[in-house]
Amino acid sequence: MSQDAPQRLAEIHSELAKELAACGRAAGDVTVMAVSKTFPAEKIAPVLEAGHRVFGENRVQEAQAKWPALKADYPDTELHLIGPLQSNKAADAVALFDAIHSLDRLKLARVLAGEMHTQQRFPELFVQINTGEEPQKSGITPAEAGDFIKACREEYGLEIAGLMCLPPAEDVPAPHFALLEKIARAHDIKKLSMGMSGDYLAALPFGTTHIRLGSAIFGPRG
Ligand SMILES: *Cc1c(COP(=O)(O)O)cnc(C)c1O
Repeated sequence: MSQDAPQRLAEIHSELAKELAACGRAAGDVTVMAVSKTFPAEKIAPVLEAGHRVFGENRVQEAQAKWPALKADYPDTELHLIGPLQSNKAADAVALFDAIHSLDRLKLARVLAGEMHTQQRFPELFVQINTGEEPQKSGITPAEAGDFIKACREEYGLEIAGLMCLPPAEDVPAPHFALLEKIARAHDIKKLSMGMSGDYLAALPFGTTHIRLGSAIFGPRG
């Protein structure tokens, strides 16, 4: 019962291989992001030691406190920002993260473009889409997605690697994943950040490329 994070991750990988095969996808199609938010470095280190290299954090400051030391020990680590990003933290985010999944407004697009140019560091950018159109949640509405993606590309010269969504907790997630996939296809966007501990299996048939797993790997958050 008292499994540790590396064991849980190994089980997720074998389950994932089976489930991907069942929907006709290759095992390498999906990246498992270990969401280490709230967990201290000593809980993260064993997962790095076991060979895992892709991690997600939702707050810039928390990541700055934990990750520079861990990245020094494991320089090939890929760190993804999955939480909302304030413009005044954009420089720090560009310096630390390898991907940002929460591009959700034009001001942020402009500031990120400037920082990426200044620092000559180019984290992959994912546009967050508020598929459930929830007022309390960040993200571009599905109806505005096309104009937003176009503005990011044409006005700010940004490459949009992917789209991200966080379906409403009370909804069946599949229609949200289907909608995100549809928007991505319409705009020739290759990557899809969708699926968390509770719903990642439902994201596999809709082409997810990045599943963001926190509690399934690290256990419940305090
Ligand atoms: C915390 C978080 C996750 C991981 O949640 P779990 O349910 O623990 O897997 C995924 N995505 C985002 C945006 C998060 O903030």
